[in-house]
Amino acid sequence: MRKEACDVVVVGSGPAGLAAASAAQASGASTTIVERSREMGGVLLQCIHPGFGLKLYGEELTGPEYAYRWLDQLDGVRCLTEAMVVQARRGTDDHPDEGFTLWVSGPAVGLVRIRARAVVLAMGCRERTRGAIAIPGTRPAGVMTAGTAQRLVNIDGYLPGKRFAILGSGDIGMIMARRLTWEGAEVVGVYELMPYLSGLRRNYVQCLQDYDVPLYLGHTVTEIHGDRRLTGVTVCQVDEALCPRPETGVLVPADTLLLSVGLIPENELTRMLGAELDPVTGGPLVDDGMQTTVPGLFAAGNVVQVHDLADDVTMAGELAGREAARYVLEGPEPRSWSRVVAGRGVRSVVPQRLRLPVRSRPELAIRVRRPIEATCRVTVSANGETLIRKRLDYARPGEMIGVRLSPRAARALRPEDDVLVEVSEG
Ligand SMILES: Cc1cc2nc3c(=O)[nH]c(=O)nc-3n(C[C@H](O)[C@H](O)[C@H](O)COP(=O)(O)OP(=O)(O)OC[C@H]3O[C@@H](n4cnc5c(N)ncnc54)[C@H](O)[C@@H]3O)c2cc1C
Repeated sequence: MRKEACDVVVVGSGPAGLAAASAAQASGASTTIVERSREMGGVLLQCIHPGFGLKLYGEELTGPEYAYRWLDQLDGVRCLTEAMVVQARRGTDDHPDEGFTLWVSGPAVGLVRIRARAVVLAMGCRERTRGAIAIPGTRPAGVMTAGTAQRLVNIDGYLPGKRFAILGSGDIGMIMARRLTWEGAEVVGVYELMPYLSGLRRNYVQCLQDYDVPLYLGHTVTEIHGDRRLTGVTVCQVDEALCPRPETGVLVPADTLLLSVGLIPENELTRMLGAELDPVTGGPLVDDGMQTTVPGLFAAGNVVQVHDLADDVTMAGELAGREAARYVLEGPEPRSWSRVVAGRGVRSVVPQRLRLPVRSRPELAIRVRRPIEATCRVTVSANGETLIRKRLDYARPGEMIGVRLSPRAARALRPEDDVLVEVSEG
């Protein structure tokens, strides 16, 4: 087994990991990035459609073009590919109370043990599968996640079916509806359990409306049919409690069912390292410097929470990389924290803690519980005092809301204060 050491190890090379590694190295910390795939770039590589980089560069880049901008900035970073972090623990042999030990395995690298003073977790998400949502019926070929289909079409060059039904209105499913239409396949419909869209409205317009793909809200697939290959699915409307109404069942002929029913942050390593997880986001609790509850352990991107835009993932990655380097070079600072609490109308807020005293202008990423299709406002308060109020034209669960605290508002916070975030109509 080979042994290595560096200041910061970044696990994963999607937009979060690339930005974190580049920022940590540029801040003066020796950095290693570890990626289990053959190529670096994470999910960006299979997203060959435009729509990346609008926020950061004001340009419409494809996923690979976007990845290339960051791959180009890894000067000095040690890059291990086809290398999976299979185990991790806190402490090293010399210093049981400091740093981290990671075991990395892969065909090119063999088994490597890396000692690091700080770690940035950027492992992204995996998609929910048929097993995760337990759809009854037979087990034929032709049932797969939308991401698998995206990989097959965009990277491997296979069209996995001719007539597709898509379950769930997540962004990957909607983007695939358009992609498959371009490839000459028929998409018979996108069926969404909730009474509202779960992905971005821009994807609904550009991927479904523009190509006459029907969207059925309040519908779900209740049975899968077919022996060797899928022949169709039964689709039902659901009631207010989201239970299928069997009397509304319709058999929809299709040879492929794509699932676009949500992403699950990949947090096995996070758990192994003892960081506390947020049961709502599925990711670790982080502070406004992206540090988890374990000192020296940082996290960014979809591993923390599912993001809408790769640009936001990148910014979170840069912050995590910079803060990890600062931790290594300047040492941990004594800190206290204010808790950030999801109040009325809010499903989740990240970061879940603010470091005190607050020095920068922390941004809160908020997801609402239900859509509000009218003017509404976000209120951030502490101790009954309003710190920030922001008006919005609408608020939708599929679209993350960003609110930055002003330095003056943030400076007023004391450790015993909870920061309450609410979204309400009016
Ligand atoms: C299938 C799929 C398709 C998507 N399509 C789009 C899209 O079209 N447009 C869009 O804006 N967003 C899309 N997204 C959302 C997209 O994931 C995020 O915007 C962004 O890629 C998240 O970046 P990330 O760096 O957090 O994670 P990822 O891009 O997922 O990168 C994580 C990386 O970590 C690596 N990794 C994980 N565990 C380990 C380990 N133990 N050791 C080493 N390496 C590891 C993975 O191989 C991967 O390369 C998609 C997501 C998925 C899952």
